[in-house]
Amino acid sequence: MSKRYSGKSFKDSSVMKKPKLTFKEKRKLKEEKKRKDEKAFSDLGSGFVLNMSTWRNMNYEKIKKEIKEFVDERDWDQFHTPKNLSMALSVEASELLEIFQWQKADEFKSATEKQKEMIKDEIADIFYYLVRISEKLNINIEEALLNKMKKNKEKYPKESVKGKAIKN
Ligand SMILES: [Mg+2]
Repeated sequence: MSKRYSGKSFKDSSVMKKPKLTFKEKRKLKEEKKRKDEKAFSDLGSGFVLNMSTWRNMNYEKIKKEIKEFVDERDWDQFHTPKNLSMALSVEASELLEIFQWQKADEFKSATEKQKEMIKDEIADIFYYLVRISEKLNINIEEALLNKMKKNKEKYPKESVKGKAIKN
């Protein structure tokens, strides 16, 4: 047992402090958390949500091509103005919201196959419009997300907001 973890140091300390972890221990914890997260996703049912490995392997070029072909074959590009697309995106987000409306906090865990399919469909609809509006405005969605995450990290420093659901 290392000095840090000895019973003596705990007994002597009036305040129980969290033991400092080594780099190896931190990495192990991180890997365990990742495994737990992936398990939690898959426990919700296969294909219920996009799990971590699906996301990592996503072929964005293929998705863009599929959507563009669908739109072009129907000559719908003419209707896809940023205004119309942002409205459609908001409507689809509300359709997702509607599925969970009035549910109890844990109710989603016992979702039926039909409900899971509905959730997947709405997530796909949201994604469709998100891809579409990004393409129309010539925005690189990955770059935009990573850039915004950088801003989020500065706006919400982990040291001051960890575990708190606050916005400021
Ligand atoms: Mg929909």
